[in-house]
Amino acid sequence: MKADLVTIFPDFFRGPIDYGITRRAQELGLAEIQVHDLRAFTHDRHRTVDDRPFGGGEGMVLKPEPLFECLESMGLASREDRVAGREKQSVILLSAQGQRFTQKVAAELALLDRIVLVCGRYEGVDERVADFLADREISIGDYVLSGGEIAAGVIVEAVMRLLPGAVGNEASTQQESFTIEAKAKSTSGADSTCGSNGLLDYPHYTRPAEFRGMAVPEALMSGNHEEIRKWRRQRALEKTFRNRPDLLEGATLSEEDNKFLAAIKNRS
Ligand code: SAM
Repeated sequence: MKADLVTIFPDFFRGPIDYGITRRAQELGLAEIQVHDLRAFTHDRHRTVDDRPFGGGEGMVLKPEPLFECLESMGLASREDRVAGREKQSVILLSAQGQRFTQKVAAELALLDRIVLVCGRYEGVDERVADFLADREISIGDYVLSGGEIAAGVIVEAVMRLLPGAVGNEASTQQESFTIEAKAKSTSGADSTCGSNGLLDYPHYTRPAEFRGMAVPEALMSGNHEEIRKWRRQRALEKTFRNRPDLLEGATLSEEDNKFLAAIKNRS
């Protein structure tokens, strides 16, 4: 996959794309990330990328010309072909007004050959970019950031770790919080039976088994795969019920899960 990041602060990405799985994906040749300096597409001596808004009002707005020129230099497929899905490319404008970014959207983007992430700044971006250049607007949450760079970093990281081969143990990305279809078959036995299926992930523990009087739950030490599966599933259900009850509606639940949920609802 190729990811193009368009920004007025190219140095911003030096850290985020050079560590962990994003770095690994690039080193393995699974991903290529290119940062484009928007100011390189200006033609005045001040390298102006912004201007005052028509109609008055606060702040400055990113001008359309450098953004159009920058994207035109990339050799992308036409917007028509991208939007129709004839080309596996997507141009995304980061915006607080966009569709919410979720694990499902990350999984959709991970299937593409190329994503272009356009980072806004100031009061935002000339609306003609959303209307005629970008294929979609994406928001990483209901709050306002000063720029799209951190949002682009979030999307790159969430997408890159879903590229086959990017994470050492692929099964782990199929059993995490928010993952809808758990197709993973773990070789270790216990894990393969309790994929998230829309729930939050179950709690994880590692050595030491006892730390400052805090012991690892006995079920996990039992070596009994069925007991471990049941314990993990119940903890995932509990945590989802407590922290994100909205997720329970879309989760795939068994009869056993529903019975357990009914019991904890009665208790609370
Ligand atoms: N005036 C805009 C509004 O009220 O919706 C906010 C503009 S914000 C200060 C500047 C830029 O930060 C936006 O153009 C966008 O690229 C980025 N941004 C801010 N919040 C974001 C969010 N929740 N998700 C994605 N990008 C965001």
